[in-house]
Amino acid sequence: MADKKNYYDILGVQKNASADEIKSAYRKLAMKYHPDRNQGNAEAAEKFKEVNEAHETLSDQQKRAAYDYELEHPGMGGMGGGFGGFEGGFGDFGDIFSSIFGGGFGGGARAQRSAVGEDIQRIMTLSFMDAAKGCTKTFSYTRNEPCAKCEGTGAKDGLSFSHCSRCGGKGVIQTSRQTMFGRTIQQSVCPDCNGQGKIIKEKCTECKGKGFVKKETELTLNIPAGVDKSSYIKKRGFGQAVQGGEPGDLILSFRIEPHKIFVRDGFDLFVELPISFKTAALGGTVKVPTLDETFDFAIPEGTQSGATFTFRGKGIRSARNGVGNLIVKVLVEVPTKLSKDQRKAIEKMQSGIDVKQCEKMKKYADNVEGLYGDKPYKKA
Ligand SMILES: [Zn+2]
Ligand SMILES: [Zn+2]
Repeated sequence: MADKKNYYDILGVQKNASADEIKSAYRKLAMKYHPDRNQGNAEAAEKFKEVNEAHETLSDQQKRAAYDYELEHPGMGGMGGGFGGFEGGFGDFGDIFSSIFGGGFGGGARAQRSAVGEDIQRIMTLSFMDAAKGCTKTFSYTRNEPCAKCEGTGAKDGLSFSHCSRCGGKGVIQTSRQTMFGRTIQQSVCPDCNGQGKIIKEKCTECKGKGFVKKETELTLNIPAGVDKSSYIKKRGFGQAVQGGEPGDLILSFRIEPHKIFVRDGFDLFVELPISFKTAALGGTVKVPTLDETFDFAIPEGTQSGATFTFRGKGIRSARNGVGNLIVKVLVEVPTKLSKDQRKAIEKMQSGIDVKQCEKMKKYADNVEGLYGDKPYKKA
């Protein structure tokens, strides 16, 4: 995507960094920007999300290769079809964190997943033409939207908080226990404030303290020419909202309706064009369709059924991915239900044609004859 930041820059590693270097850089940054350490810091939350996204791609060999290709060939990968994936980005995060923080406290506070809302996935149906030519569409869906009145905090005017006395604002509590191995300390998320470190004093009247409201969200989207079923558009922050955190993303993929004339393969268009055998034999002008208009094309005489003609640059025009071709396959249509006179006319015509004038038929007859050499064909 055009606004996508470079994953290597996000993690601060060289492009040829080893898997270990990437892992190590990720751990450092994930700790630095982790929501537990940056309560209510929106910038850190955004960084945390970026770091996770970068790690998710660069730690997977296949995704990394696809991403490298995209970096070197901007635009070739299409609308993010090649990489990025649909997973939330927290895949193996819990595991890594438990090994960083968990050990000392006997498995204590975990990453606060509640800081990021869930992604929403939707499929939009587009007509063949809208997908091929690009279009502007409004898209409506229902989601938990951050409450505007309290800025998603759930507190009256976004301000009515009191310090959590149970955890002293830290969001975690420690309990010590006497066991046969001695005293152990357990660390866990503060149940009073849910790890937020603060408690809502007076609830927001709009969302009743939830921090979000269920709403019909309408988006106007510019859909670029050439999207297909592997394309998706990711709208950051348009997923489900959570109290005191970042909303997830909206991930929109496409279903493309078939067309009566055109078939697509990438940015190339295919058309099957039926012609009469008179046109095939003698040549003639036919109308060839493109996405915008038709043009006249002179079929040369002696055109065979199944012959293809390629018109360069008359396929789908994608601003990011170049221009496809139009490939026309000619099919000679043999009329059915002939009248007596028509039959006679055809028989007369064919009787005047020498077998040498039909090269393929002659070659085929010769080849079939020579198929079994001198040996006569025997039934098994
Ligand atoms: Zn607390
Ligand atoms: Zn509210």
